[in-house]
Amino acid sequence: MMNEEVLCKRENLTIALQQVWGLCQDAQRYLEECPARTREACPDLSKTVERLVPSLLDSQAARLDTTSLSQLVSIVGSCRNCGLGATRNHTVPGEGVLNPRVMVIGEGPGADEDASGRPFVGKAGQYLDKWLAAVGLSRDRNVYIANIVKCRPPGNRDPLPEEAAACIPYLKRQIQLVKPEAILCVGRIAAHFLLQKEEGVGLLRGRFHRFEGIPVLVTYHPAGVLRNTGLRGAVWDDMQQLAGFLQLPIPARKG
Ligand code: SF4
Repeated sequence: MMNEEVLCKRENLTIALQQVWGLCQDAQRYLEECPARTREACPDLSKTVERLVPSLLDSQAARLDTTSLSQLVSIVGSCRNCGLGATRNHTVPGEGVLNPRVMVIGEGPGADEDASGRPFVGKAGQYLDKWLAAVGLSRDRNVYIANIVKCRPPGNRDPLPEEAAACIPYLKRQIQLVKPEAILCVGRIAAHFLLQKEEGVGLLRGRFHRFEGIPVLVTYHPAGVLRNTGLRGAVWDDMQQLAGFLQLPIPARKG
């Protein structure tokens, strides 16, 4: 069910319950033969409404609690919980190995990913693979890669807050199932939605944050570094910091 349908149902239910409350008050006045008595204010009905028509995100999160990774991929494949479901070609749930040393999290699929259904396969993805390989990491052996939203925002715009909110229960369940040792969050937008931080990458990088107990390192998005090569040194420092944390051999600095 789409978000709007759930909201509409909840609004209609609230109105119907308020009307029932009013009718009960009228019936009581009539039975007590006390027409002058004023109606009591309607109590807070939000808990009753929530019980009868759970909000989409709550019901979705509860439904995902017991899903396996393959079930999750299947649910994502038919998801229309936000507007991005209408414009995508393929969902991009993520790929890699379970129990990885690192889970890379970006903001969302681009055109190449939308066309293939695989995360980080365009130029930026190939560049990311080089960063990972430099410290002995690869999506074939010890990395899992996913995004905040599983469908491409049109024109590669940033995901909207409501799109991220609709999709992030999938990512949370993925993280629970994939069980990474650490998370590498690439780019300001991914960091904003994952960590609920407003600061830019420049202020967030260089130290470990936490997401549900898992250490998170923030670095620049590979697409941004391709545009601004002046950021390469910072990314290299971040990859070395990650390698140090994971006790991976740290290679000598490249130019
Ligand atoms: S972006 Fe996420 S919530 Fe939105 S339609 Fe795609 S899978 Fe569903």
